[in-house]
Amino acid sequence: MKIAILSRNSKLYSTRRLVEAATDRGHEVRVLDHLRCYMNISSSNPTLHYRGEDLPLYDAVIPRIGASVTFYGTAVLRQLEMMGVYPVNESVAISRSRDKLRSLQLLSRKGIGMPVTGFANSPDDIQDLIKMVGGAPLVIKLLEGTQGIGVVLAETRKAAESVIEAFLGLNANIMVQEFIKEAGGADIRCFVIGNKVVAAMKRQGAEGEFRSNLHRGGSATLVKLTPDERKTAVKAAQIMGLNVAGVDILRSNRGPVVMEVNSSPGLEGIEKATGKDVAGLIIEFIAKTAKPHRTRTKGKG
Ligand code: ADP
Repeated sequence: MKIAILSRNSKLYSTRRLVEAATDRGHEVRVLDHLRCYMNISSSNPTLHYRGEDLPLYDAVIPRIGASVTFYGTAVLRQLEMMGVYPVNESVAISRSRDKLRSLQLLSRKGIGMPVTGFANSPDDIQDLIKMVGGAPLVIKLLEGTQGIGVVLAETRKAAESVIEAFLGLNANIMVQEFIKEAGGADIRCFVIGNKVVAAMKRQGAEGEFRSNLHRGGSATLVKLTPDERKTAVKAAQIMGLNVAGVDILRSNRGPVVMEVNSSPGLEGIEKATGKDVAGLIIEFIAKTAKPHRTRTKGKG
C-alpha cells in the first residue's frame, strides 16, 4: 500500500515508529507536513500539492495533526478524503474530539460515565456553577489547554471563585469539574484500535501533583483493565467515530469515568510502558480496513 502520514516533523517518536512499522511490512510510506500541503478545491477533480509537486493518490492516510493546527490540518485531510484516500481517523471525528465540550456532550448522551462537568460564560453564574458540580474541591480546565497546562485544582470554594473569575475575565473558555479524589493522582490511558483496547497504561502524577501527565513528571506503568474499563474505552472511541484513539479514564468510586478522547495519541509512552508494537498494530489495522472512498462522512457535517 501507499501510505501518507500527515505530521509536522518526521523525527517525532510516533511518526518515526509509524514509518518504521509500515516499511517493515512492505508498504510505501511518506511523511507530509500538512502545513506545506495546498490544494485546488475548485476543480471537479480534487488534488493536493506539496512543495511544488502534484501528489500521487495514496491508499491510506494517518493524520497526526497537532491541536494548534487542527483547522488547517483537517482541511488537508478532508481534501484527501474527497480524493478517495482512506483516513485511519476521519476529519470530522478529529474535529469532534478536539472540541472538549462537544465531546463530553456526545459521550454523556450515550451514557458514558464522566466527572460531573459544568460550563458557563458569565461571571454572574459562578456561584451556581460551583454548586452544580458539588462544590469544592473542584477542577477548573481551560478548554484550549493540553498536557495538563490550564488544569487547576481549587481546594476551597473561595479559591474556585477567584480562579474562575480570573479565567472568565481573560475571556478564556473553561469547564468546571468534580474532583475525582479517589483516582489518587493517577489516570489510565487506553489505546484503542478498531474495536479493541490494544494497550493500556496507568500514569501516576509526581508526588503532591494531582495531574498525571507524563509531560508534568508523571510516570507510566502497565495496568490490567477491568472488563468495564475496556468496554467504556471502546465505546467512547466509537461514539467519537475514531478508529485510533487514546481514551483517558479516571478510576472513580462509581466506576470508570472518561476525561478525554484523544485522536492523535502519542506512541512513545504507551510503547515503552507496555512493550507493545502499537505502531505495527495501527499499520496492520489499516492494511485490513483501507479501501478507496471508505470515508463515512466524506468530510461533510
Ligand atoms: P490535558 O488534556 O491538558 O492533559 P486533562 O483534562 O487530561 O488535561 O487533565 C490533566 C490531568 O489532571 C489528568 O491526566 C488527571 O490526572 C488530572 N485530572 C483532570 N481532571 C480531573 C478530575 N476531574 N479529577 C481528578 N483528576 C483530574
